[in-house]
Amino acid sequence: APENTTVPDEVRARHAELCRELDDHSYRYYLGKPIVSDAEYDRLMLELRSIEDRHPILVSQDSPTQKVGAPISVDFAEVEHLVRMESLGNAFDSEELSAWADRASAEVPVDAYLCELKIDGLAVDLVYERGRLIRAATRGDGRVGEDITLNVRTIGVVPEQLDESVRPAPELLEVRGEVFLPVEDFEELNRRIAVDGSHAPFANPRNAAAGSLRQKDPRVTATRPLSMIVHGVGAYTPAAGEETAFTSQSQAYALLGEWGLPLSDRYKVVATMDEVREYVAFYQEHRHDPAYEIDGIVVKVDDISLQRRLGSTSRAPRWAIAYKYPPEEVTTTLVDIKVGV
Ligand code: NAD
Repeated sequence: APENTTVPDEVRARHAELCRELDDHSYRYYLGKPIVSDAEYDRLMLELRSIEDRHPILVSQDSPTQKVGAPISVDFAEVEHLVRMESLGNAFDSEELSAWADRASAEVPVDAYLCELKIDGLAVDLVYERGRLIRAATRGDGRVGEDITLNVRTIGVVPEQLDESVRPAPELLEVRGEVFLPVEDFEELNRRIAVDGSHAPFANPRNAAAGSLRQKDPRVTATRPLSMIVHGVGAYTPAAGEETAFTSQSQAYALLGEWGLPLSDRYKVVATMDEVREYVAFYQEHRHDPAYEIDGIVVKVDDISLQRRLGSTSRAPRWAIAYKYPPEEVTTTLVDIKVGV
């Protein structure tokens, strides 16, 4: 379209500036050292999106609107994921959530949604070969992540060996989830480092988890009470002679649970968007019930054949969406520490 070719200089300049800023914020965020709030990051991203909507010629593969995560650092070896790790699209209000559901239902007959908590942690990929944990990696840019196997081996809930008491372990299993620091452990950690002076206090559990997981010395990671909850499957090859397959996300969770992987007990499969909205409203009220911080709800089309038909954009699945809760001002933690000391 002709208007695409005439992007005003100041718009072009603002676009370039936003791309630079967002890339920089992403990098710092994945190191666990952000300098702006998530709400501020999301605001910059919305501004970038609205410029690109008006001037599609500015959209490139390199734009933060089109890619996942951040480039990986040189501190860890590179690992290529067997199946790409994606981000999630966002809905910031009920209309955006409905718009997502309408788009999905216009394409495929959705009859079940899986609702779960959006844990505010870090995405980690685990690879099990014949039941043994052989590798763990960060999401990185979605295609290539960082090898953090030794650090992840220190996380108590992550099995070294899958439990085969119910059924044999698959030949190959790539499973994704969120590594996090429970809120109480985060507060305890901050109290401890304030006393021993080993580290500046962390601003929130997510930063503490990111910093702890990306330690070069796994012995330091081992002193941080990290936990994990899995919420997705990448590559999967059943055990030889077994036909253990799954046709829905919830069925996959049941299998992962049998193999001893850490699952949330708060997910729920529902039939209608009204029930999805009830779940969203419930956890908006009970946001602090879980032992860990959440920043929203994730809604997934439960049926895996429908997930495949809906597919993905360059950065996120069309079959899932993150409903983000409004940010909360958390300023009490640092005050508590001073009082505690
Ligand atoms: P995202 O955090 O919005 O959503 C994708 C991630 O959610 C997945 O990778 C997955 O690990 C996680 N997740 C948690 N629970 C899940 C569940 N139950 N099912 C599936 N996935 C689940 O997207 P992102 O691309 O990781 O990061 C973008 C967001 O991160 C921004 O919206 C912003 O809030 C924050 N951010 C902040 C800064 C900053 O400087 N403050 C910088 C970059 C990103």
